[in-house]
Amino acid sequence: MNILSKQKVRGIVIESKAKGENDKWLTVLCKDIGKITVKSRSCRKPNSKLFGCSGLFSYCDYIIDDHLGFYQLVSGDDLKHFFIGCDDLKKISLANYFVSLSNKMLKHGQADNEFMYFLLKGLQMLDKENKALCDIGYIFELRSLIILGFMPYTDECSNCGSSDTIFFSPEGALCKNCVISESIKIDPETFEAIDKIFTTPIDSVFKLRFDSETKKQLSACAALIMRHYMKTSFTDYDMYKNEKWY
Ligand SMILES: [Zn+2]
Repeated sequence: MNILSKQKVRGIVIESKAKGENDKWLTVLCKDIGKITVKSRSCRKPNSKLFGCSGLFSYCDYIIDDHLGFYQLVSGDDLKHFFIGCDDLKKISLANYFVSLSNKMLKHGQADNEFMYFLLKGLQMLDKENKALCDIGYIFELRSLIILGFMPYTDECSNCGSSDTIFFSPEGALCKNCVISESIKIDPETFEAIDKIFTTPIDSVFKLRFDSETKKQLSACAALIMRHYMKTSFTDYDMYKNEKWY
């Protein structure tokens, strides 16, 4: 970006922090330039023109002022309203998890349009789906790691190359002779499901559905690799900690 200039950026707010009496600091994941921190001045006043475009999950074409790398929001044209009037806490917990995971995974200035598109698809599916929320959750977790370059090896044992794999670990599949403590025993159907989640095009990946046992195992695999690579998992965000999702 140039110094002292107005810029148009397409982005989604992945973090929104109240600052002072009426301001906010936004973290916006932008097309072509990655995530940036933007000050939204006076946006918490109800009559502010920045009120609507400064909320978490706002997806807009923004005009920002750039003063030597200090960004200030000028205006925002809505492209999509996510979760407006949503009173489903499960949805909101998952959506919060998706954006905070994205914020954690991406560094400032690391442009990743494929990941941004994937995040938008995930939020869009959450927005319109009312039943299969848990499926969208573990699919997001597993696939996001692939997009960011962590590729657990699933074709054969990642340690010895044996084709007789029955365990899943953060490094990938393992046979019974190479099993480590940080691994989960899974069925062949679950290995197949993981492959599908890794390889199905982003446009349709969130529509994949599996049987209930496979779901349980996929969810456990996703939690295992999230805790290993990202030091977090959905349980940290789940407002329904005691309710069964499966
Ligand atoms: Zn092995």
